[in-house]
Amino acid sequence: MNCFNHPEVSSIGICKSCSKGLCPNCAADLDHGLACKNKHESQVESLNMILDKSAKAYSAAPKNIFIAPIFYLFMGLVFAGFGYFSREGVTGLPFVMGVGFIIFAVVIFIRNRDIFKATKDA
Ligand SMILES: [Zn+2]
Ligand SMILES: [Zn+2]
Repeated sequence: MNCFNHPEVSSIGICKSCSKGLCPNCAADLDHGLACKNKHESQVESLNMILDKSAKAYSAAPKNIFIAPIFYLFMGLVFAGFGYFSREGVTGLPFVMGVGFIIFAVVIFIRNRDIFKATKDA
């Protein structure tokens, strides 16, 4: 392929934004690809940023979906255990709150798992 602006010069690559051939004089070398100099540099740069961000969010997802549920589950067990062994027993407020936390943890886990699945399929 030859340069879009200079048909007699062979291209070194294509613009990531418009897919036209670029010679060394027309190409702006960005981190992850080439762009038409003074034309599509900012487009390609923001495109790279979006790709970068989604790649980071994706790699962080498997860990993040467990953090909140585990936290609430732990809180629930502490409250429920405390309530269970306290004088009030299973009818006392701490135990009921503990059970509430545990249910909340399960709900968050299921919801996060669905979000994770949805982003994986996309
Ligand atoms: Zn371009
Ligand atoms: Zn050129």
